[in-house]
Amino acid sequence: MLSANAFAATSATGPLAPTTIERREPGPHDVVIEIEYCGICHSDIHTVRGEWGESHYPLAPGHEMAGVVSRVGDEVTRHAVGDRVGVGCMVESCRECANCVAGEEQYCLNGAVFSYGSVDRDGTITQGGYTSRVVVNEDFVLRIPEALGLDVAAPLLCAGITMYSPLRHWGAGPGKRVAIVGLGGLGHMGVKIAHALGAEVSVLSQSLKKMDDGLRLGADHYYATSDPDTFRSLAGSFDLIVNTVSAKIDLDAYLSLLALDGTMVNVGAPGEPLEVNVFSLLGRRRSFAGSNIGGIAQTQEMLDFCAEHGIAAEIETIPAAQINEAYERVLASDVRYRFVIDISTLA
Ligand code: NAP
Ligand code: ZN
Ligand code: ZN
Repeated sequence: MLSANAFAATSATGPLAPTTIERREPGPHDVVIEIEYCGICHSDIHTVRGEWGESHYPLAPGHEMAGVVSRVGDEVTRHAVGDRVGVGCMVESCRECANCVAGEEQYCLNGAVFSYGSVDRDGTITQGGYTSRVVVNEDFVLRIPEALGLDVAAPLLCAGITMYSPLRHWGAGPGKRVAIVGLGGLGHMGVKIAHALGAEVSVLSQSLKKMDDGLRLGADHYYATSDPDTFRSLAGSFDLIVNTVSAKIDLDAYLSLLALDGTMVNVGAPGEPLEVNVFSLLGRRRSFAGSNIGGIAQTQEMLDFCAEHGIAAEIETIPAAQINEAYERVLASDVRYRFVIDISTLA
């Protein structure tokens, strides 16, 4: 076994604290990665706090890992010692079901293994990236292009792909009016990516506090949802809305902003159910959809797209000792726009 320094939660209510965990000895197809940076995703907070159901403790969250390969199994062909690599939300899937074969491993019919809090193939519970090293099958390890720093690339592994995948699936591009709801970790990546895809991008944020940032990141328009005029003046004006909000919102109000055949995609994942009045949908043949991260091939495509377009996350780098404080700031929507842990401070 390989030991790793970690920052983990031991309950849904207590703070995260330093500890050590064990990683498996690498098998023939495994890659050992020394993690340098790990982003803090709001999903880490939902999971640690048991908002999506009961979690396994101790739990080291983190699924935006970026680092360098230090060792490879005998049969590894995709990665070599010294490579700059990343690991996102998934570390295994069956590879045989229709969804895996289609490159949509996140929807594996036999259950994808997620990077933390998931039952691994060997029956152990996975531990995420708030740790100094990870052992992952080579097929779930992504190449980080040279043009991207490891720190600003880390958030692409979840926030980046979670926005890229639905934007591509629902055809964000020239002539499409796209709104991103919530300018946090996911939202700011959504603005950058939708802009790079050529769409006309609007931000729907609770206030105008971050308007200058939103416009700098690539938004064409910026609106405050706390202003009732926003919903009146924008009625029927978007082809695609991607909702990144981590809490319950009034879906009907947002659906009223969709044009004929428009789609609202929820990537935000609050623990409590959202309500929809069907009349919000049938009036203009609107759709309400969901999307979960993206497949491995598309995640690599997204990383290459970001490198090519000069896109990376806007980050605030923190030492591990500030993780609990960072959680409070994320919960207060006080994140600009992703906290990234400097993993060297875990020692
Ligand atoms: P985040 O950084 O906290 O961003 C969420 C943003 O939503 C906030 O910055 C804020 O933006 C807005 N917001 C927060 N509370 C709100 C409220 N009560 N009413 C209206 N707006 C509110 O979180 P994140 O890391 O981007 O994650 C967002 C959500 O996506 C989480 O639920 C997370 O679990 C989920 N997620 C899903 C996937 C997937 O694959 N589907 C992947 C990753 C994350 P403004 O200040 O601009 O209003
Ligand atoms: Zn995430
Ligand atoms: Zn499968």
